[in-house]
Formats: sequence, C-alpha cells, structure tokens
Amino acid sequence: MPMSLTAGLAPGVRMAVNGARFLLVLAVLTEGLHNLGLLGGARLDTFFDDWVYNGAEVGAAALVLSRALLVPRERLAWLLLADRIAGFASGDLYYTLVIEKMASPPTPSLSDAGYLLLYPCAYGMIVRLVGAHVHNLHKSVWLDGATAGLAVAAVGAALVLEPVIHTTHGSFAAVATNLAYPLGDLLLVMLVIGVFALTGWRPGGTWLLIAAGFALLAIADSVYLFSVAEGTYEGGTILDAMWPAGMAVLSWAAWARPREQTEIRLSRFAVMLLPCLFGAVALFLLIRANFVHLGVIPESLAAAALLTAGWRFALTFGDLVQVSELREHQARTDDLTGLANRRQFYTRLNGAIDGCHARGASFALLMIDLDHFKDLNDTLGHYAGDLLLQQIGPRLEGVVRGDAVARLGGDEFGLIVRDATAAAVAAERIHAALRQPFELEQIAVSVHASIGIAIFPQDADSTNLLLQRADVAMYHAKESRSRYAFYARGVDSNSRERLGLVAELKDALAHGGLVVHYQPQMELDTGAVSGIEALVRWQHPQRGLLEAEEFMALVEQTGVMRELTSLVLEQSLAQQRTWRARGNDVVLAVNISAASLLDEAFVGDLRRELTRAGTPPGALRLEITESILIEEAARVSTVIAAVRELGVELSLDDFGTGYSPITHLMSMPIGEIKIDGTFVARMMDHRPTAIIVAGTISLARQLGIELVAEGVETTAQLDRLRSIGCPHAQGYLLCRPMPAPELDRWLEAGGFRSELRPPVAARGSRGDANTPSVLAPDAASTPTPGRRRQAALGVAPE
Ligand code: C2E
Ligand code: MG
Ligand code: MG
Repeated sequence: MPMSLTAGLAPGVRMAVNGARFLLVLAVLTEGLHNLGLLGGARLDTFFDDWVYNGAEVGAAALVLSRALLVPRERLAWLLLADRIAGFASGDLYYTLVIEKMASPPTPSLSDAGYLLLYPCAYGMIVRLVGAHVHNLHKSVWLDGATAGLAVAAVGAALVLEPVIHTTHGSFAAVATNLAYPLGDLLLVMLVIGVFALTGWRPGGTWLLIAAGFALLAIADSVYLFSVAEGTYEGGTILDAMWPAGMAVLSWAAWARPREQTEIRLSRFAVMLLPCLFGAVALFLLIRANFVHLGVIPESLAAAALLTAGWRFALTFGDLVQVSELREHQARTDDLTGLANRRQFYTRLNGAIDGCHARGASFALLMIDLDHFKDLNDTLGHYAGDLLLQQIGPRLEGVVRGDAVARLGGDEFGLIVRDATAAAVAAERIHAALRQPFELEQIAVSVHASIGIAIFPQDADSTNLLLQRADVAMYHAKESRSRYAFYARGVDSNSRERLGLVAELKDALAHGGLVVHYQPQMELDTGAVSGIEALVRWQHPQRGLLEAEEFMALVEQTGVMRELTSLVLEQSLAQQRTWRARGNDVVLAVNISAASLLDEAFVGDLRRELTRAGTPPGALRLEITESILIEEAARVSTVIAAVRELGVELSLDDFGTGYSPITHLMSMPIGEIKIDGTFVARMMDHRPTAIIVAGTISLARQLGIELVAEGVETTAQLDRLRSIGCPHAQGYLLCRPMPAPELDRWLEAGGFRSELRPPVAARGSRGDANTPSVLAPDAASTPTPGRRRQAALGVAPE
C-alpha cells in the first residue's frame, strides 16, 4: 500500500495542508449551496461570488503548488497544473476586480488571456504524469487511447463545438476566443480518456480526480458558452460554482495517495470492450452524419477514431496470429533441443507414409539411442547431459542433410531417411559424427549410440508399427553391441530365430564352438611382447567366425557368462602354460564381465583354474570395465578383494569411456589401465584428447600403474604414443588377434615387425610425460598435476 503523500511532511506542514484541503471543500460546498439559493440569501452574494469564489480558486492553485514544492515526486507535472489553475484564478480575479465593473466588457479581454494561455500547461501536466506512470506500453494501448480520445472528442465536437460555431457572432477575435474554450477542453478530455485507456481502464484515484476536475471545468465552459451565445447567462448560479469546484477537485488529485505501479494487462476483456465501444460510437456518428450534417470537425474526428480502432484491431490480430503460430511451433518442437518432438515426428512419418504409399516408394526410419547416457548424467550432472542433447541435433542434421530429425524423448532421437537404400550409410555416418568429441563445459565427451532401422513398407506399413519395429531393432543393436541393426522379423525377443541362436550358443559352449584368439601387447621401449589378451570367438557353422562384440550381449542375456568365463580361462591358461613351458613368461590378460564380478562363485572357479594350470597368480591379469566398478562398487568389492588376495592383477579396460571420476577409480585396487581405442584414434587431430592421453600416461606413471593404449592402427599413432612415454600398446597395427597356433608361428618368427619397434639407440629410455616437448607439437603444455587428475577421467579441462 503506498504511503499517503502528507505522511512524509513535518507535522505542522501536514496539518496546514490537510486544513487547507478541507477548508477548500467547505468553501466550494457553501458556495454551491449559496448559488442554489440554499445558504446565505442575496445579501451574501458579493461575499460568495467575489470572496469565496476567487478565494477557492487561489486556494486550489496554492494547494497544487504546495504539492509540487513539498513532494519531489512528479514535481514538474504538478507545477504545470498549479500554473494552469493560477492562470484560471488570475483570469477570474481580473474579471471580478475589473471587467465586472465595466459597462461593456471587451471580448476578448485580459481575463480570457488568463483562462486560455495556460491551457498548454494542463496538456503538459498530463503528458508528464503519464510518462511517470506508464512504461513500455504496447502500441495497441496507445491506439486505444487515441481511439477513445478521438471518439469522445467527436461526440463533444458534435454536441458543443458545432452549435457554438453556429451561434457565435462578432469579431474574428471574439469568435476565435469563444471557440478556443471548447476546443481546448475537447483536447483535454481526449487526453484524459486516452490516459484511461493507457491504464487498461483502471486509472486509479489520482486520474479519476483529474478527470473529474477537468470534466467539471469543461462542462462549466461549455454551458457558459452556450448560455452566453444564447444570451441567457446569469451570474451567481450553480454554474459559477462549478469552476472553483473543478479546481478544488484537481487540488485534491494533487494530494491524493499515489499509485505505485500502473499495470497494464492487455488480455483483459474490458481492454477489448472499450475500444470496440468507442469504435462503435465513432461509427454511429458517421452513420448519423449521413442523415444530419454534423460538421467537418466531429466527422473528421469520428473517422480518425474509426481508423485508429481499425489499426488497433489489425495489430491485435497480428499479435494473435503470431502467438498462435508460436504456440503451434511450441507444440511441435522439443523445448530443450529445438528439434521436432514426438508428436511432430508422427506427423512427418504419416506424411512420409502417405507420400511413399502413393508413389510405391520406400523410406527408412532410424531410431537412435545414446549408450550410457544415464551414466553421463549421473557423473557430469544433468546440465552437461542437457548440453550434450542440444548438440546431438545439429550433428545428426549435419550428416543426414534434408532428412527430418526429431527428439523422441530422453536420449532417443528419430530420423527419416527418404532413400531406404541409404539407411546403413546414414547410420554409419551418424556413428562417426557422434564419436567426434562433444564439448560440454570444457569437457570433451564422445558418444556411442545404438541405431535401429525399420523400412517402410517391408517391415511395417503404419506409423505405430514402424516406430515399434525400429525400437525392436534399436534394442537388438544395443544388445549385440553393434552400431546399428535392421529390423528383421525374428529379432523380437523370444522370436524363433533368437531362440535358435540361444540354442546354438549353448551348443557351441558345450561342444567346442567357442575358441580363444590372442592379441599380443608391445612394450614400446623395447618392442618386446609384454602381454597377451585372450579374446573369445564363436566359430559359427553358418555365420563364420564371430568376434566377441557380436555375441557378448547374447551370452549375457542367455545367462551363460559363467560357463563362457570358465571356458576362456581354462583354454587360455592352458595355452599360457605351453608358452611358459617354452620359456615365454608372458602375462595373460582375460576379460571378465560384470556378471562374473557379481557372481560369488567366480573366485572359486578362478582359484580352481589357476591351480589346474599351475599358473603363478601374478602371470594373470583380469580386465574389467570402468562402469561395473562405479555402478556396482559395493557389490563387486568383495569379489575384487578376493581376486586381489589371490594375487591376480586387475586391469581397467576401455578406460575413458565411462566418465567416472578419477578419484573414485583411484580408490580401486587397479594395477593397469587400458586407454580406450577411441582416444588413441582421436588424439591425433584433437588437442584436448591428446592432453588427456598424455595426462593419463603421466598420472599412471606417478601412481605406479601400468598402462596400455588400445586400438593402435597407424604408425603415426604408435610414434605419438611412444613420444609421449606410453609404456604399452595393442592394436591391429601391431598384431591382429589370432588363434594360438598362428600366434605361435608369429612368436617364432620374432614377434612384432622390426619397423614397429623402437630404434635400437632409443630402447630402454622411455619418454618422460612430464616434459612439455614430448607432447604433440600442437599441445603447448603439459597439464598441471591437478588438471591431470581430471584429465585421466577421459574428460579434459581446456
Ligand atoms: P576389449 O577387451 O577392449 O577388446 C579389444 C577389442 O578390440 C577386441 O574386439 C579386439 O579384437 C579389438 N581390437 C584390437 N585391436 C584393435 C584395433 O587396432 N582396432 C580396432 N578397431 N579394434 C581392435 P572383440 O574381440 O570383438 O572384443 C570386444 C569386447 O568384448 C572386448 O573389448 C571385451 O570387452 C569383450 N570380450 C572379448 N572377449 C571376452 C571374453 O572372453 N570374456 C568376456 N567377458 N568379454 C570378452
Ligand atoms: Mg579387454
Ligand atoms: Mg578395451
């Protein structure tokens, strides 16, 4: 609630102001009563007509002036009003003192100068006050004000101005003076009504009082002019009381409790209703002008009012169209990414189906689901997750130009590829694009996705079924850890084909269909074989040799992981024994799945296999992935502790792909980390990745942890790794995984090709990752130890 204006004044001043306000009301009331013949009688005529009348006007001017002087707020506006009232009062005073006493008063007189010359002050006051109250108004509000003002002015002109013009006779100066009053008042009324519109037709006390004051003055002026024109004017009637009354009301407006904020609400019904009303009034006047001549001024004003009303509705209509378009757009797009949403995607799919149906053509629906998005959200936070999702759209659009991309929800995206034969190519491209690191607040993250593909019309001929089939294919891709999968009748879980596959897998496990291939690792300093990783293969009777990636998901779902692990351990430990027997004390690395680490029986199996093969525990390393360590830390910790107790080393596989905080990993009993192949591939042309790799190598060295770089495919990568002090490497360049007999031949032939080994002079002198010069030429400096801790995460501060 705003404070009263007098509240801030000194008590004495406050009393004086309030006293004057009530005295003024008293004066005006008594004068009114006297002029109505109810008070004082004729003997008090001079007292009321001269003293009370002029006293009230001077008092009103003084009150408004005191408001302007005592309260700084909106000072200029009230100073202008004080001037206006003072002009009026002085005109009246001069009239009382001089003109009234003349035998034939001149027209115009000096009094008219007082009345008229200060009109502009009133306009100035309104403009100032509006400026102080209302900010940033919508154009339509100004137009409402104009419409209302013009319509009222048209009515006023029709009712007052025209009759006065027609009844006024005399000199040009006299006619002009007489016309100046109604015109001046008309303009005032127009302005005040306009202000009402500006406030959304909720003007508040001050403006209502201002309007009432000016209205009283305008009515008094108009009635006076009429009666003078008709020769019926008589002093001392109620009409004479209206002028001081109007000024008193204005002085009350000056001291009224101010409103804090004039709030404009455009949507309100009344805001539309009033311009309609004023528009209708203007229209009525124009129609009436067809039958009765109203005069040029009222007709032009009415026409102008109609024009502004039309303009206003055009504006509103424009706004409405814009808003509805915006809402329509919002209903069709995803808030976070700005891509089409599921609803819009349905529409597009429907369109594609209709189009292809008519032409007998086909198209592909790609369903893309990010892998491990939840992990990313959990470890880097939802903001990073959002940032990633926002960048996915442009990436997808970049590789499959022209085809509609949509976010279907969560980390799932949909895409229509018009040319069904290009679906696989599109899927490959998407994969490549997503693996380029995304920058999430100075952290580089590369993304894997599983893509399911369904083709219209061969897989499904309706929108829903097509989406469902693409979904099935997507899950199939995820399960089989393939980059993408086409929908095939039968990949639905429990389908015949799947059941067949499960049976075949079990058969392979039981009857030697699963074999182990071996991939050696190189010690980069010496070029020697420093370890051999066992990788399972399925020699499938129809499909040929399947790599682990192609069937591990099936193994997991079929629940035969324990058997598989035993089989691989048994075969590879036996193989290692023969190598050891030949004097090759190579360390064997075996991959252990999450399922095994959660299996309490695993340690028993492991111990048994070790005993059976007579392997010293230190010659075996178990490779486990980051995610299982993080997600199931509590559950796997007993198994891990038991494995460590056996003396078997643990190796952290695919390091960098799991977004785990490095501090967390450091608390695990890890003897080795294997940097994922994606980092090795990316480090050549992506400086942040190069820094991560260098930092990880340096950190591992400082912590006394062994390190292997995986997936080395080019000599450039090998050289770079060697130059930044990477101790071990593995990859197709060095040697592909192969069956034991083949590897035996390879070992007998001397192992790694000589050109892959370090020059003799350099052997045994590892690069020092702490020296900036060993970084890639484009990597200017080695990260500080604190940054390196983060960097080893697979995320790099830039
Ligand atoms: P991993 O342990 O990271 O194994 C490395 C994978 O990368 C192998 O694929 C290997 O053939 C492949 N690879 C090696 N060098 C290169 C290279 O230079 N470039 C590229 N692009 N790839 C290379 P594979 O055999 O298909 O194995 C895939 C994953 O399956 C393995 O990843 C491992 O996590 C799992 N796995 C493999 N064998 C077993 C096993 O016996 N038991 C369990 N539980 N998991 C296994
Ligand atoms: Mg591995
Ligand atoms: Mg790996």
